[in-house]
Amino acid sequence: MILLKNVTLTGKLTDVLIGGGKILAIGSYAMDERLMSQIIDGSGKQLVPGLIDGHVHPIGGGGEGGFATRTPPLSAHDFLEGGVTTVIGLLGTDGWTRTGIDLLAHVRGYTIQGIRSFLLSGSYAVPPVSITKSIAEDILLINEVIGVGEIAINDHRSTQPTVHELARLASQARIAGLLKGVRGTMNVHVGDGKDALDLLEEVVETTDIPITQFLPTHINRSERIFDAGLRWAKKGGRIDFTTCTTEAFIEEGEIPAGQALQRALAAGIPLRQITMSSDAGASLPTFDESGKLLRLETGKPTSIFDAVRDAVQHGVRIEDAIQTVTSNVAEAYGISGGDIRQGERADLLLIDDALQIDTILAEGHAIMIQKKWLLPK
Ligand code: ZN
Repeated sequence: MILLKNVTLTGKLTDVLIGGGKILAIGSYAMDERLMSQIIDGSGKQLVPGLIDGHVHPIGGGGEGGFATRTPPLSAHDFLEGGVTTVIGLLGTDGWTRTGIDLLAHVRGYTIQGIRSFLLSGSYAVPPVSITKSIAEDILLINEVIGVGEIAINDHRSTQPTVHELARLASQARIAGLLKGVRGTMNVHVGDGKDALDLLEEVVETTDIPITQFLPTHINRSERIFDAGLRWAKKGGRIDFTTCTTEAFIEEGEIPAGQALQRALAAGIPLRQITMSSDAGASLPTFDESGKLLRLETGKPTSIFDAVRDAVQHGVRIEDAIQTVTSNVAEAYGISGGDIRQGERADLLLIDDALQIDTILAEGHAIMIQKKWLLPK
C-alpha cells in the first residue's frame, strides 16, 4: 500500500491510501505506517486526477508528404511523462496503410504498462474503415472501442462527406454506444476549409441526433474556426482544443489551447462543454513560402499539461483547467474516471507550487515521485 500524506485535495489537507491499483481511503486516519510499502509526503502539493487525453495517435499519423513523412509510434513512457494515465487512441488521415488492428494491439500494450486505453474506430474517411464488419460491431464487440473518429470535415483531406452520410455514421455509433453503455461519440476533425462547422450544424438541425453526440476538435486552429466553435457551444455542443502546436502554427493564427480555454470561458461557454486533447503522434509540418516541407515535428503528450499551465497563467483556475483534461473528457465519451473517489483507479498526480508535475501514480504504481522518475527510460 502507498500512503500519500498531507496532500491538498480541493482546498483541504488530507491523506490518501492506495492499494491494489485503487484508492482505498481518503481522509486523515491513524494508519499503521509499517504496513506501507511507500509513504509520499505531499505537503504543499495539490492532488489531481491523472489526465485523460481524448485524442491521440498511438501508432503515429500524418504521412501527407510521402512515405518518409509518417510519424513514429508513441510509447507508454511518452504518455506517462506527461501525466497522462488514460488515452483515447485513433487513426487519422491514413486509414489504409495504418489499421485499426495495429492500433488495437498497440494500445493493449499501453494497458499492460498501466495506462487505461480506449479507441475510436474509423479514420478521416466516410464511409469509414473498421476492424470488424462495421463501426457499430467494432463498438459492440471490442471492449476498447467507445466511439468513432476522427472523421474529417472542412478539409481537403476529408472524403467530403454529405450531411446524410455523416448523420448515418453518427447514428450507428450512437445506437451501438447505447447498447454498450458508452456514448458512441463521434470525434470530428475540423480542418481549415471554408465551411467551418456548417456540415455538423446541418446534421444537428435536420436530424434528431443530439448535439452532444459530436466532439469537434482543433477548434483553436484559427480565429474563424474558434468563432464557429463558440456558436456551436452556445447551442449546447462540446468543443475540443488541441494542445500540440508549433511557433509556425501560432504565427499562422492558431490560438494556443490554454488561451482558447480562457477566452471560451470569458465568452460564457460552460466549463463542462470544453475539453483539451494533445493530438500527440500527429505530424506538425513546417513549409517554406514555396510550399516545400522544411521540417516535420511530432506532437507530444506533454503538451497537454503545458496547456493547463498556460491556461492558469492566463487566469483560469487550476481546478477548472484540470477538469477539461479529466472529468469533462470522461463525460464526453461516457467512460468512468477523471475524479478522485474511494474505489476509483488510483491514477493520480501531485502538482507543485510552480505548476510542475511532481509525482505520478498510474493504476496505483508510482511512476515518478518528487520529480524522480522510477521506470527505466
Ligand atoms: Zn485531426
